[in-house]
Amino acid sequence: MRKLSIGVRLTLWYLAIFAIAQMVFGAGMWLILRGHLYDLVDDSLEGQVEDLKNFMEAQKKDASIAKLQEEVNETYVLEHSGDFLEVRAENDALIYRSTFLQTHAVSLTPLASIKEHTSRNLTIEGRHFRFRLQKVEANGHVFTASMGVPTDDVVETLNLFRSYLLMFAPLLFLLAASGGYWLSRRALSPVDALVRTARDIGGANLSSRLPKLETGDELQRLSDTLNEMLDRIESAFLRVTQFTGDASHELRTPVSLIRTEAELALRRSRGEAEYKEALRHILLEAERTTSLIEQLLALARADSGREALHMEPLNLSKTLGGVVEGWQQVATIRNVQFSASIASPQSLVMGDEAALRRVADILLDNAFKYTLSPGSVQLSFETQNENAVLKVQDSGAGIGVEDQDKIFERFYRADKARSRTQGGAGLGLAIAKWIVSQHRGTIAVESAVGCGSTFRVELPVVAAPAHTSQLA
Ligand code: ADP
Repeated sequence: MRKLSIGVRLTLWYLAIFAIAQMVFGAGMWLILRGHLYDLVDDSLEGQVEDLKNFMEAQKKDASIAKLQEEVNETYVLEHSGDFLEVRAENDALIYRSTFLQTHAVSLTPLASIKEHTSRNLTIEGRHFRFRLQKVEANGHVFTASMGVPTDDVVETLNLFRSYLLMFAPLLFLLAASGGYWLSRRALSPVDALVRTARDIGGANLSSRLPKLETGDELQRLSDTLNEMLDRIESAFLRVTQFTGDASHELRTPVSLIRTEAELALRRSRGEAEYKEALRHILLEAERTTSLIEQLLALARADSGREALHMEPLNLSKTLGGVVEGWQQVATIRNVQFSASIASPQSLVMGDEAALRRVADILLDNAFKYTLSPGSVQLSFETQNENAVLKVQDSGAGIGVEDQDKIFERFYRADKARSRTQGGAGLGLAIAKWIVSQHRGTIAVESAVGCGSTFRVELPVVAAPAHTSQLA
């Protein structure tokens, strides 16, 4: 079954609450009016009973029942207040009973059951009455007076009030229903607009945004949040598209070089030396392609979150010692002076050894790639203010200020022509940056064109090693 819309549900809830409130209010008002009207009647009856008391007190103390009957009859037959009156003596002997009460054989509460006074509503032959039954003390005797008054007006007023309530309730209810529905539609109409726009956004028009609401409420927060989410999706989408485009472009170059080399070699028959030379070129390009594919795969795995790093407490001094050893030979071949200063371990770094070794390799590879002989490359490692600091400094080509931020981006090469001949695709530093960020560290460069570069990696240290000698 299809669920009702929020607008309809809100209206129904609103109506349910409104109907309950209306019923409680109507019933409350009716009860208050009723209480007030009967209070007025009771006040007037109390006054009449008081008059009767005064009358009884004015009689002789030792007057007989017969004498009292005569006196009360004489006065109250003519009195308006005697029309619905009954007076009885202590022994329940009847002193006075109005003609109306006699004709209609109205039975009123016997004396014993009344304490002080009580009020009672009676319907006699379709007419409404209210009686006040009260003990009246006069001249040392206790009488029971039942004083009545017609309350047709009161009942009629109450009935009229009830009819008005019942008549206007549906009207108010209808008014509230339409008002509630209009209000909820009005409040939720921006949601419909958001839904319509959101439905149209796809890969082809990812730069479209939801209408900006200025309502300052939850809906504005919702649209702002969705737009921020679209910003992130768009930039991720653009990164992926850019990455695919750049990757295909980078792969096309070595593949076409391999192809051209092979085609040239096969165009006519050549001597062994020439074939060997062609194969050597092909092998070199194939090796570059393999390393490029490995870098691409590493980044793709990093993007998809599948490149899991195995973090463990590491003594980086030891790891870097091994890395430096590996690069000594390269330095000798390239005739570049290479020195390393690795401080003995003070603290451990929580990290993945292979990944951090790769960071050092990338930085040293770049330093040797972009430093011509006779130049120098220095690696240093020390602990500074809770951070392990690795510096790779060279006296090479240097990097212009405008390029310094961009070199950490994928496929960015500061000096395109030279980088290509050196074999880089502009991915090394992007990989290094990703690894360092996974270790909650930072990587930065200081450089000036022609004056060399210094790459600085900072990683947070976790704790001083318990047994430094064992780890070293
Ligand atoms: P590549 O594989 O092209 O070296 P990287 O991401 O490692 O890619 O470096 C990006 C660019 O930064 C390089 O193409 C180069 O222009 C510049 N670069 C990196 N390291 C150095 C360095 N030590 N000296 C001068 N330029 C450098």
